Amino acid sequence: MTDTAEIIDVSPRDGLQNEATLLDTGTKVELITRLADAGVRRLEATSFVHPKAVPAMADAEDVMASVPRDRTVSYIGLVLNRRGLERAITAGCDEVNYAVVVTDTFSQRNQGTSSDEGIAVWKDIAREARIAGIRPSLVVSAAFGCPFEGEVPVRRVLEVVEACLDEPPERLSLADTIGVAAPTDVAERLGAVIPSIPDAVQLGTHFHNTRGTGLANALAALEMGVTSFDASLGGVGGCPFAPKATGNIVTEDLAYMLGRMGIETGLDLDALAATAEWMTRHLPESVVGLYHRAGPFP
Ligand code: ZN
Repeated sequence: MTDTAEIIDVSPRDGLQNEATLLDTGTKVELITRLADAGVRRLEATSFVHPKAVPAMADAEDVMASVPRDRTVSYIGLVLNRRGLERAITAGCDEVNYAVVVTDTFSQRNQGTSSDEGIAVWKDIAREARIAGIRPSLVVSAAFGCPFEGEVPVRRVLEVVEACLDEPPERLSLADTIGVAAPTDVAERLGAVIPSIPDAVQLGTHFHNTRGTGLANALAALEMGVTSFDASLGGVGGCPFAPKATGNIVTEDLAYMLGRMGIETGLDLDALAATAEWMTRHLPESVVGLYHRAGPFP
C-alpha cells in the first residue's frame, strides 16, 4: 500500500455552499489560511457559479483576491460553464473542477444540461483551461447513486469516464454526491474504471458521510490504489437532498486514520483540530468531526 496520500480540503466550497449560515468573506479567508497553515496543499476555495443560484459563493472573486499566496497551495475553483471558467482564470485559480453528472435528471437540475451535454462542456472547458495555463480536473458526480433516478448503472459511469477522457483531466474523481455508497460499491466502481484511466491522470474520490459510510469508503478506495481524497474540515457541509445530513468525510479524522496506518498526508493534526474548534464558533451545529474532540492518542 502507498506510504503517502493527499487530502484535498473542500470545506470552503462544498462545505460552506451547503450550510444555511453564510460566512463573511473574511471568515472564509481565515479558514483557507488556517488550512494552508495546517499543511493543506490543494483546496477547493470557491465556485464560480451564478450568485443567485448559490448565494454562499457570491464573493468568489473577493475570496480569491485575499487567499495567502506565499505558500505552495493550489487553489481550485468549481466551474460549470465557460463564463465560470473565465471568472476563475481572472480570479487567479490554479485549477478548475468541472462536474459531469452521470444521470440526466440530476444534471438538468444542477447545471441545466443533459449528462451528454455536460461531457461536451467538459471537453470545451478542459481545452480552454489548458490554453489559459490552468489545470482542469473532472468530478464524475452521482457516480454511486442519483437523488432522482436512484441506482446508477456501473456501465453508465464507465461510459461517462471514457467519453470525458478524450480531454484527459489532471485528476478524475468519482463522487458519491449524495452519500449512499458502501465499500463494496467503491471497490466495484473503481474496479470498473481503473483499467481505463491513463497513468497521467490522477484518480481521486469524493465521499460524503451522509449515512456514516464515508471513512469505510475511503479505506476501500485506498485498497483499490486511490491516494487522493476530498474531505472537509470538521465535516462541515451537507446535502441538498437530505436536509439533516452532514457533509463530506472529515479532513482531520481521515488524516488521523491514514497517519495511524503509516500513510503520510503532510497535515498537522493539532492545527486542524484547532481550526475545527475555531469553526464551531461560526457553525456550531455543523462541525461533526470527532478527532478535534478526542485529541491525539496520548
Ligand atoms: Zn460534494
